[in-house]
Amino acid sequence: MKVVLQNLTKIFPSRNKRSNEEVVAVNSFNFEIPDGKLIGLLGPSGCGKSTTLYMISGLLKPSSGKIFFGDDDVTELSTENRGIGLVFQNYALYPHMTVKQNIMFPLENLKGADRPTKEQMLERAYEAARLVQIDQLLDRKPSELSGGQQQRVAIARALVKMPRVLLLDEPLSNLDARLRLQTREEIRRIQKETGITTIFVTHDQEEAMSISDLIVVMKSGLVQQIGKPQDVYDNPANLFVARFLGTPPINVFNGRVQAGKVYIGDAAVLEAAGVPDQEVYIGVRPEGFNVAEDGPLVCQLRDIEVMGHATSFLSSHEASINPVIRTLKDADRHITVEGDTIRYSLKPHKTFLFRHDDAAERIECEVK
Ligand code: ADP
Ligand code: MG
Repeated sequence: MKVVLQNLTKIFPSRNKRSNEEVVAVNSFNFEIPDGKLIGLLGPSGCGKSTTLYMISGLLKPSSGKIFFGDDDVTELSTENRGIGLVFQNYALYPHMTVKQNIMFPLENLKGADRPTKEQMLERAYEAARLVQIDQLLDRKPSELSGGQQQRVAIARALVKMPRVLLLDEPLSNLDARLRLQTREEIRRIQKETGITTIFVTHDQEEAMSISDLIVVMKSGLVQQIGKPQDVYDNPANLFVARFLGTPPINVFNGRVQAGKVYIGDAAVLEAAGVPDQEVYIGVRPEGFNVAEDGPLVCQLRDIEVMGHATSFLSSHEASINPVIRTLKDADRHITVEGDTIRYSLKPHKTFLFRHDDAAERIECEVK
């Protein structure tokens, strides 16, 4: 089921009685979520992710704009009639019910002709439980389950009604690191197996990048960029997107373009033919540095971190906006550095130029 958002906007009245400033939580969203895909809504806390999800679910009424499921305008439809499955960060299971009863609960609530027979309900509960691999635990109470298992029950409960759209709001936030990884792989597997259009909200860029077909990067209620994770990483629309994606984060320098050359301080680091002379922000991914004896960018070496699979050089430069410049090298290439300076050349396809203003949009050009 494809989902289309048309000029979708949510404005909350001021919470502060003295100021009348409204909060534009979601500002005119226009995008299409393709049928059968997993889309990640990604952005820092407070950027409007949950508000978007709750409008799609029907829990919140938009201030303006429309929501379509396929060709159906569902904007005025109640949550129960939208055919969605919802999973929240806190699992919100009924503590006095067994796992089986929790999963069957949405079916028990169906009325009239929609209500399956008891046998059908059981059959569907077993099926959902098998899908999330908790079919051994059906007679337990939620308190007898780990966090990861509880979240699986919540997912099974969302799946049992065979939703047209599955909505997940930070579903992994309460899990420890290992379970988070495992559960996100599970969610991806389940989504692929069922083919249910899924919207996954998270503030964790790595999580969104790793499981989404498409990511929507948001900031302050505005969509910044939509695309395949790798495309957005490789072609960020602006400095915000570039900084939000990637660990370690992108390194940013104050610099300038002059006569077609890109300068950091006095060092000409690359060429950008056709770009008018101007001040720029220069973003370099951690993997975009070559250690080179005659490299133009001369930095003060601070530390070397060995992580096993990779080695990270920490250095500083007066034009760097990040407190430390962090570069990343495969550990199978041994590099020895002597003294307290380190010299780099920059990889053009890992280096981006951004306008030196508030919006900091990327300057479309070929860096060489
Ligand atoms: P996210 O899920 O990305 O962290 P939210 O969608 O929860 O962000 O919130 C977006 C913005 O809307 C925030 O500034 C938040 O404070 C505000 N907001 C959310 N819900 C309400 C509400 N019920 N009343 C007033 N402001 C709200
Ligand atoms: Mg939220």
